[in-house]
Amino acid sequence: MVPQVWQYGFPCGWRIAVLNSQLVIQRIVLTAELHTHSSLSHDGRDPVDFLLEQAKAIGLDVIAITDHDQIEASLDAASMAPEYGLVGLPGIEVSSADGHVIGLGVREVIPRGHDFATTVDMIHDAGGIAVVPHPFQSSRQGVLTKASKATVIEHADAIEVYNSRLLTGRSNRKADRFATAHGLPKTAGSDAHIGEMVGQAITLIDTDEVSVEAIIEAIAAGRTAIEGKRTPWRISFKQAGGGVKRRVQRRLMR
Ligand SMILES: [Zn+2]
Ligand SMILES: [Zn+2]
Repeated sequence: MVPQVWQYGFPCGWRIAVLNSQLVIQRIVLTAELHTHSSLSHDGRDPVDFLLEQAKAIGLDVIAITDHDQIEASLDAASMAPEYGLVGLPGIEVSSADGHVIGLGVREVIPRGHDFATTVDMIHDAGGIAVVPHPFQSSRQGVLTKASKATVIEHADAIEVYNSRLLTGRSNRKADRFATAHGLPKTAGSDAHIGEMVGQAITLIDTDEVSVEAIIEAIAAGRTAIEGKRTPWRISFKQAGGGVKRRVQRRLMR
């Protein structure tokens, strides 16, 4: 039998739902795309409005445009996102001397060419957190192919453990093992350079409230889970099929 679903989300981050005549109160889990490139990146294709449209169409809650060493499109996306029912996290993918470092929550260009630790310090000074994308991918300038593990463990706020552009899963699995072994928060990123790829890798974020600051805080605290190439959680919820109750009751973030 298909359960009856009614739900209401509060801006403070809690959701009330009625499932099979049972009242369920739960924290909001947001679906986020944390690694995307716009046409402002030298290698990206699509403009911000197209990427936001795509994120909305597939039911995401949060998107970060993280262009290489550029911030303008990300700031545009962050301010336009509410028109699409999204939270836009400002961000940038910095070309450090040791490889790529994503700054989330920054609103200024973080200069390229500094070593990993200095780059992270600059991201922190700008009010952001540092996520290490594709850490073990030497062809795409993964930081852990140059900087020492000790440096990354000491300075990184989170590790991208699922990058959907990697051809094999080996580097992702290595990244996941590294993050687990050292207790580092985990994120996913599609690393989309075209709109169609947005949402290929989703980070689920257990947040206290729906705001840029709260989302950044939740990521740094490790209140995340990873979904690669799967239907976003919210869409699954809306589909109200037999799996709904199971999904809602699943404790995603423990
Ligand atoms: Zn990169
Ligand atoms: Zn990238």
